[in-house]
Amino acid sequence: MVDTPLIDKETAADRSAIVRLHNKGEFWKPCPGTTQGYLCCGYQILTPSTGCGMYCKYCILQAYFPYQCQILFDNFDDLEKEVHSKLSNRSEVVRFGTGEFGDSLYSENKTGVARKIAELLEPYPNVIVEFKTKSTNIEPLKTIRKPEKVIIGFSLNTPTMIERMESGTAPLEQRLKTAAQCIEMGFYVAFHFDPMFIYKNWESEYRNVVRNIFKKISDPTRIAWVSMGGFRTMPALKNLLKQKNDHLNLFSGEMITGMDGKLRYFRPLRTALYRAMAQEFEIHYPEITLYLCMESPEIWKDSGMKKRIPDGLVRYLDNRAQVILGAP
Ligand code: SF4
Repeated sequence: MVDTPLIDKETAADRSAIVRLHNKGEFWKPCPGTTQGYLCCGYQILTPSTGCGMYCKYCILQAYFPYQCQILFDNFDDLEKEVHSKLSNRSEVVRFGTGEFGDSLYSENKTGVARKIAELLEPYPNVIVEFKTKSTNIEPLKTIRKPEKVIIGFSLNTPTMIERMESGTAPLEQRLKTAAQCIEMGFYVAFHFDPMFIYKNWESEYRNVVRNIFKKISDPTRIAWVSMGGFRTMPALKNLLKQKNDHLNLFSGEMITGMDGKLRYFRPLRTALYRAMAQEFEIHYPEITLYLCMESPEIWKDSGMKKRIPDGLVRYLDNRAQVILGAP
């Protein structure tokens, strides 16, 4: 994706640095979770930039890119052309996100890309976009003209795991408070419990996070959707953290290698995670659009989630997006 990255060593190691580069490849790619027996949500990924100034121990980007700095692609006009051209013959719902290779909002004050993407997609009545973040950086989004077509997605975890795994990110209470502010600003919000971890007290602590959502969000109809995914990763991350002797917290649980080559929790553990969360959401707001990220049909069934997707996961989320966009 990136043109020969002539990044000096010091800058490459600096997560706060933003380097401008030219992207010769495509900016729009479908979510890669389409193969290997796991159900994909049909998300479309736009990548105007990569990286993030925070640091999550489980972040795969540290093993994926040979540099830790942020990259801002300087040819946004090519992204615009590509999007206009590909959208010109699509009338069905398209759900975009920009958070696959970095945090969508962390550096928004400096880059402005979220606002540019919102503006680019604004004229398309069938298109919705989600900006995923672990920050509280919503101030720059005030200028977005149609916030009702934009979802601000907050990645959530328990305070224990945020403290242990997500350095430099906003505390849980602040993320939830910011989500409530987003709704006041006219946005929809989403919540992503991904990755979820198995540890002592996981169940009561994750259930507590769900309770907290409904204490802070007074109008749950403004929650676009909620996703869940147990911790899973490529073995390359384990090897990398092992070199730093920093792998034990993450990989001490029982894990198997899945059909996609990723390490993940045993099936009964994943089922227990999702079942507990689904029960808790049903107590507070049974109408919630709740889905699993890249899970097998067996896990959907075992965790009691299958009933949510009689027409498949993609249709389930497209229908929700259609409601948000205003059904024709
Ligand atoms: S916020 Fe996202 S992109 Fe940034 S370090 Fe954490 S997982 Fe990686």
